[in-house]
Amino acid sequence: MKGKLTCPFCEYSEGLGPQPGPCPRCGTPLVYWRELPSRLPRLSGRGVWRYRPLLPDVAPVSLGEGGTPLVPSIRLGRELGIELRFKLEGANPTGSFKDRGASVLVSVLREFGLRKVADDSSGNAGAALAAYAARAGLGAVLFVPAHASEKKLAQIQAYGAELVTVPGPRPQATLAAQQACREEPELVYASHNESPYFEAGLRSLAYELGEDLSWDVPEHVVVPVGGGALFLGLVQGFSDLVRLGLIRRVPQVHAVQAAACAPIVRAFELGRASPALVEPGRTVAEGVAIAAPPRGREILAALREVGGGAVAVSEGDILAAWEALPRAEGLYVEPTSAAAMAGLSALIRRGYIRPGESAVVPLTGTGLKGT
Ligand SMILES: [Zn+2]
Repeated sequence: MKGKLTCPFCEYSEGLGPQPGPCPRCGTPLVYWRELPSRLPRLSGRGVWRYRPLLPDVAPVSLGEGGTPLVPSIRLGRELGIELRFKLEGANPTGSFKDRGASVLVSVLREFGLRKVADDSSGNAGAALAAYAARAGLGAVLFVPAHASEKKLAQIQAYGAELVTVPGPRPQATLAAQQACREEPELVYASHNESPYFEAGLRSLAYELGEDLSWDVPEHVVVPVGGGALFLGLVQGFSDLVRLGLIRRVPQVHAVQAAACAPIVRAFELGRASPALVEPGRTVAEGVAIAAPPRGREILAALREVGGGAVAVSEGDILAAWEALPRAEGLYVEPTSAAAMAGLSALIRRGYIRPGESAVVPLTGTGLKGT
């Protein structure tokens, strides 16, 4: 397998392995790196694996993920005075963008000969991992917080994954997953929030946006941030396109969090390098309720590097955006996706995005799973 794992903050690097830990020198989760060709090779097929020359070179475990529609806004963009497009990630096989990461992660794990994987998730990542594990013939154990949406839990179980409900706040599910992997040697912790392979799969969203728009990428991309894999995948993916000479600069990628749990936004506002300590409250945007994102330092550094903003949005604003999207645009999404829309308005008010500029909001998941 070509490529290596590198630390985003120090010089450390190591070969590819099935279960990479954080950097032994500074504790940061590692990042997948591979030499890129000098120019974009001929691409074939559609979806995530169309960009195979840029991904880990493994046999794909695929359900046709990626290749999602990019549609112009009809009304909300005009109201906001910007050129707005939506990337409909709810059209992925399990209903969210996480399929991009899960497809690449499970493909790599299968290549390494693993038999059984564990993850902790509030729903979408769990469903994605369970689906791709089923496709690959691997066992999966998912640790979920007790308050996760019932429809999401039913979906995880439908794929034959073992479901372990963990009482208490979200971090308890992470600890339970790690504990189980220590106790059962053949069970491997495949964290979507930390795995470099998961993040590598999410870069395909940037590649696709570039190709969808004939490499005339938008000035802004606005995403909900929990663990930050989508945010970092986009920044890294656009950076790859710069390295390939296809675009001139990385768009400003902005981070939106729910005010109830906003460690990145708080740290950004205070000018800090590491996520702020927060006491997480409940939010309808359950996909972003992560109080201590393992890649937090990397997210904050990347935000400053690409000139992105970080904004927190209230529950009222999230719900208003969630109601507006289906009525104004015909787009039924999960509340976490609506948080990005609510954040878009805040970014315009604060002058991060100016009238007439172009923006893409990836609508991260379908509304059909409900909350
Ligand atoms: Zn390091």
